[in-house]
Amino acid sequence: MPFTIAIIGRPNVGKSTLFNRLVGQKLALVDDEPGVTRDRREGQARLGDLDFTVIDTAGLDEGPRGSLTARMQEQTEAAIAAADVLMFVFDARAGLTPTDRSFADFARRANKPVVLVANKSEGRHGDAGALESYALGLGDPIGVSAEHGEGMSDLYDALRAVM
Ligand code: GDP
Ligand code: MG
Repeated sequence: MPFTIAIIGRPNVGKSTLFNRLVGQKLALVDDEPGVTRDRREGQARLGDLDFTVIDTAGLDEGPRGSLTARMQEQTEAAIAAADVLMFVFDARAGLTPTDRSFADFARRANKPVVLVANKSEGRHGDAGALESYALGLGDPIGVSAEHGEGMSDLYDALRAVM
């Protein structure tokens, strides 16, 4: 059984950017099952000496007033069920939104190890958001920049501790 990590979080926090960085050129497949898994992407990732399957939960729009839609909820729950470890990603520049808190509730209730990822943290612009995220109760935030490839060794350390 390959070790599986699900990348979860609200739209636009950088989940797919992180997925692509972890998977690199080895993007494995696009899941074409109908229904809740339709937008789910899986790939084989490598970080240092860690090999794992990574699931990206895909581009669903937020509902009215930034709410979590039923489809987002179903897709996230399916990814959580399939995963050994969750990466909860938020936008450290934007700070936490009500939708982030809804996703964090799912992550907490899953009773699986969670790595809290403070994305868009390049240039220390994420410091305030990272501090705010301690209140989620998901552990210490790992500041990364998926776009610029920063913080990957801290992410490695955090994953190493739970894999
Ligand atoms: P997703 O909806 O969570 O999958 O988010 P995407 O990966 O599609 O990224 C949403 C937007 O955030 C895009 O415009 C990305 O270029 C941008 N983005 C992703 N990662 C970073 C980052 O580390 N820093 C900054 N500044 N922008 C990022
Ligand atoms: Mg995406």
